[in-house]
Amino acid sequence: MAWLPSKLTSALLLIIGVLFHVTYICSIFDIYFTSPLVHGMGQHRVEAPAPAKRLVLFVADGLRADKLYQFHPDPETNELTTKAPFLRNIIEKEGSWGVSHTRVPTESRPGHVAIIAGFYEDVSAVTKGWQMNPVNFDSVFNQSEHTWSFGSPDILPMFAHGASDPDRIDTIMYPAEYEDFGAGRRTSTDTKQSGDASALDTWVFDHFTEMLEKSKTDPALHKKLHSDKIIFFLHLLGLDTNGHSHLPTSEFYLNNIRIVDDGIKKVTEQLSAFYNNDGKTSYIFTADHGMGNRGAHGDGHPDNTRTPIVAWGAGIQGPNKVNPQGHDEFSADWRLNEYSRNDVKQADIAPLMASLIGTHYPVNSVGELPLPYLDTPDSFRAASTFTNTLQILEQYHVKQELKRRTEIYFRPFPGLTGEHSPEAVKAQVQALIDAGKYEEAEAECAIVRNLCLEGLRYLQTYDWLFLRSVISAGYLGWIAFSLNFILRTFVGGQDSRLGPLGAPRTRRPIANAASAQEKQAVNILSAIVFAIFAIILTIKQSPALYYAYVAFPIFFWSRVVLDRRELISAIAKTTQNYGWVKTIGSVLGYIVALEILVYSYFNRGILSVCFMFLALWPVFLPAAVQRNNTLLMASWSLSCLGTSIFTLLPVEIGEDKMLILAGGLILTICGFVSTVIVPGITADPQQPNAAVTARNVMMFQTGLIALSTVIVNDTVRSLAAHEGLPFLNQTLSWIILFTTGSIPFVYGARSNQHYLLRMVIIFLSFAPIFILLSISYESIFYFCLSATLLSWLMLERKIYSASEMQPLSDTLYSEKRGLTGAPSSSSAGSSSSSAAKGSATDYPIRGLTPKDARPAIFFLFFINVAFFGTGNVASLASFSLQSVFRLTTVFSPFFMGALLIVKILIPFFLVSSVFRVLGRSLDLPPFSLFLLGLATTDVMTLNFFYLVRDDGSWLEIGTSISHFCISSLMVLFTILLFALSDLLVGRVLVPALGEGQRKKRS
Ligand SMILES: [Zn+2]
Repeated sequence: MAWLPSKLTSALLLIIGVLFHVTYICSIFDIYFTSPLVHGMGQHRVEAPAPAKRLVLFVADGLRADKLYQFHPDPETNELTTKAPFLRNIIEKEGSWGVSHTRVPTESRPGHVAIIAGFYEDVSAVTKGWQMNPVNFDSVFNQSEHTWSFGSPDILPMFAHGASDPDRIDTIMYPAEYEDFGAGRRTSTDTKQSGDASALDTWVFDHFTEMLEKSKTDPALHKKLHSDKIIFFLHLLGLDTNGHSHLPTSEFYLNNIRIVDDGIKKVTEQLSAFYNNDGKTSYIFTADHGMGNRGAHGDGHPDNTRTPIVAWGAGIQGPNKVNPQGHDEFSADWRLNEYSRNDVKQADIAPLMASLIGTHYPVNSVGELPLPYLDTPDSFRAASTFTNTLQILEQYHVKQELKRRTEIYFRPFPGLTGEHSPEAVKAQVQALIDAGKYEEAEAECAIVRNLCLEGLRYLQTYDWLFLRSVISAGYLGWIAFSLNFILRTFVGGQDSRLGPLGAPRTRRPIANAASAQEKQAVNILSAIVFAIFAIILTIKQSPALYYAYVAFPIFFWSRVVLDRRELISAIAKTTQNYGWVKTIGSVLGYIVALEILVYSYFNRGILSVCFMFLALWPVFLPAAVQRNNTLLMASWSLSCLGTSIFTLLPVEIGEDKMLILAGGLILTICGFVSTVIVPGITADPQQPNAAVTARNVMMFQTGLIALSTVIVNDTVRSLAAHEGLPFLNQTLSWIILFTTGSIPFVYGARSNQHYLLRMVIIFLSFAPIFILLSISYESIFYFCLSATLLSWLMLERKIYSASEMQPLSDTLYSEKRGLTGAPSSSSAGSSSSSAAKGSATDYPIRGLTPKDARPAIFFLFFINVAFFGTGNVASLASFSLQSVFRLTTVFSPFFMGALLIVKILIPFFLVSSVFRVLGRSLDLPPFSLFLLGLATTDVMTLNFFYLVRDDGSWLEIGTSISHFCISSLMVLFTILLFALSDLLVGRVLVPALGEGQRKKRS
């Protein structure tokens, strides 16, 4: 590794850390979300005449199943009524119905692809934009004679784009601006309709009517409308938009269901009249995804994955009341128990549509024809299901051949070999059909189709063992590599001299370093190992990133091997100084604590339990600490208990005006009290003006907090009354956001402020943003968390000052140049003067000891609390979008997401600032504690990597994947915070502690 500087610094370690984690997050997409699409399959369709000539597909974007089927109290009479009388009548009199189960991500694009093309698009497609297709695919629309689609410009173009003949699919769309889901600022003049997105649906129904009208004067259109195999697609976005802005429990959402129901009734009547009741139209009504109670979707929560399906018309089975099946608790209160509920998987809708109008099945479809929905002759059913099977079998075949070509030693899927080989199976089913044994043929088809799907999955996951091993080696390598660095650099002992960012100032004893020959040998060996992997990967035609996956572990482990002697000597030194029991105990305790944090991803409540134990901590402190710090210990215990409440509260919080107000008041009072007390106790007697300035700044900040409280209350009132977002409030909110957000960077960032003053300034700066973005108890959480953090910092300082630990007598660390600084010239000679003056630029440091594991794990704990305090990791959507409506009403997922991320990040800023100051207080080299946390959080990431599930429900799979991603992102967050903490508190004044070593030194 000649390209690497011989001396590894913290900055370089960070860069490697970022590169490594960013690359390895992608691994999850390569392993779990590779595109299932293959090309080159032949087409299949049923030759017998189809039951329908045309099909109408309604997709109510964001309609979750229970909201459609349930009864809702009428706002006036309070009587329970259905919001969809027409569809209910269909279910009871002429159609089939059930729940259509979607997969994650529950977003519009993958949902529509599943419905219309019959396969589950990989998540990477979502990241590549909504309208462009990363890989072109076949769809029912593409196979139709002609398709007219009506609706949103977000959805329609992707099916037109991929069509083999662009003229085949008409897209009739409203402009994107129509989707402004503001609570009606733009339309606040017309009172009744303001903020109601059902207008989008009305638009679609009106334009459908218009098209039918137009055909009366347009012979070409008239002719087209009378051909076979045509599709009308009505995309109804109103429910999604209303669900996001008003929640799925709102009157807006429920009334929108009625509007959709009315529209469908109208379309049905219009088409019957238009085609002279020829009975050749099939109808399918469904949704692309559901909607969570907090007005968001995307994850695998059942509220998002369960959507309705109702089908009726030509070829569709009527209600089955003889032996109603398929019901469970979910459908218990729908009053539909007399009618069979036939659930489908979302992709099953595509072959159903193809079968009804007799087109080719979309070649990429993995949907299984839902036979209970078909009311056709037995021969047709059997032929349809056989065709469906052949079409899936063909994909298996093509995919297997592709794989075989790129494998050195290919192991075929055992289920489809020998007597179950595709050829044998085809002949067998054909024979059954020819003999008229239709039911047996259907049963055989079902078996084969399942085998094919299993086989496709087998091929899809063929490389998993290999990839997972590589990834594990990579994470373990990173942990070993970075710990190795920390041990060598920060555990030093008497012979270490540290420069900025921990680069050793003096060379290590040569005896420990690897010899030149050894280095060469290790480098050559790693090059050979990499070359072997590269050859294998080239034969497998692997994507470029795979080479990086392999390169990282080889690099990490070769470095660990090279540095092993120094590593061993650092470990030996630690155990010598502190004993085996203490050292191993600290390591084990650390790992157990990390595992508890892993568990907190599944159950936030465990964090509350931890807080309750932490509240007892003062009891176990040394007597010297206990004696003089009663007030501080009480403040720690109380704030721990206070914060423990929040991880017990449900995450699905509704808007609560009283709690918002209470949080704002608490923070205002807190600001006022700090203004009175803090400048006084932190003042430097030599700079009397500084205290006055500090007091003025804090007064201003308290004013902003009070103002934010007033504004947010008025905004909430206005939005609740559907009066829209007042322009004055919006402007003021933005001004406050930028003013207060810049205070900590402008005021005192470059001067040596007292750490306590600095922490309070930072705390007060972020408070108004938190208030503006809070929808319930978040501001109170912010207060409790801040109190806990500050108590922690002060308590750790007391414990340290009472301890025997001491900084190395002749080592000085200079922080004049910050993150990128060059080694300072300060030496032992200047130590006495700087310590006496309490200057912030030079301070003595010591090495890491096993005892420092505690602050590091506390830091990781608080990072988790900062995240879980107001949200739940299982459902990122639980961070409600509602809070950003105080600042913007125009729907832009990225902009809104950015605001939401600011809100989520604010507690992290506090945690990292406190942690940074703590490192200084404990005489540790800057970032050493940070790096310890950074190196070890991947124990959690690795846990989640192995907890990623590929079986079970899609909820479990989706959750496990988001756990992994969040855990990996935490590492990147930490690096970001690390840099930010340097900006925020990089040069605060941390006065020498009253007792202990420093006093002696001065
Ligand atoms: Zn949506």
